[in-house]
Amino acid sequence: MKDIQALCVYCGSTESVAPVYLEAAERLGAVLADNGIRLVYGGGGIGLMGAVADGALARGGKVVGIMPEFLLEIEVGHEGVEDMIFVDSMHSRKQKMFDLADAFIVLPGGFGTLDEAIEILTWKQLCRHDKPVVLVNIEGYWDPLQKLIDSLIDGGFARPQNADLLTTVTKVEDILSALAAAPEPMIRTVSSEI
Ligand code: AMP
Repeated sequence: MKDIQALCVYCGSTESVAPVYLEAAERLGAVLADNGIRLVYGGGGIGLMGAVADGALARGGKVVGIMPEFLLEIEVGHEGVEDMIFVDSMHSRKQKMFDLADAFIVLPGGFGTLDEAIEILTWKQLCRHDKPVVLVNIEGYWDPLQKLIDSLIDGGFARPQNADLLTTVTKVEDILSALAAAPEPMIRTVSSEI
């Protein structure tokens, strides 16, 4: 398997979601810890964000949270995360998460998750990086996004090969094998280039 030391997880920050999503996030945290992979995430203590960190910390995994100072109270900074990096804006948070990760995992989430996922794909589309991006389509949650991507391509607004910018799996247990099958990143990205 290629050298994946740290994975960035984008996921929802709300609590009122079906347990299946929270459980999947917690299992992903455990998978990362068991495989010695550092979790890089937004630093929140609630919703899927809290669950993925809980899952990793419970198995002794390494977790890095990237938290804009103004969000600390709103997203309830995770108290168990010792390695918390404070930043001054949402943009710096996304840049820092990008810098620290070898690949990106998109779990179910809301506007914030969608924003993060689309931005990392647009950076990849523009050849600013070619780190793997894995969409975890639990219970068909991301089917509408996949339809939208097909429609962008059908309408000529995205190139057909852009569908290959991301890999889709249906359960967290398939993420590491999807990453193992992904091509080795060829572009060395310097953060200031993005
Ligand atoms: P959500 O999917 O809306 O629950 O948000 C997931 C995470 O994305 C939360 O940590 C949000 O603070 C974060 N987020 C929301 N909007 C943005 C944005 N424009 N840029 C970066 N992160 C964001």
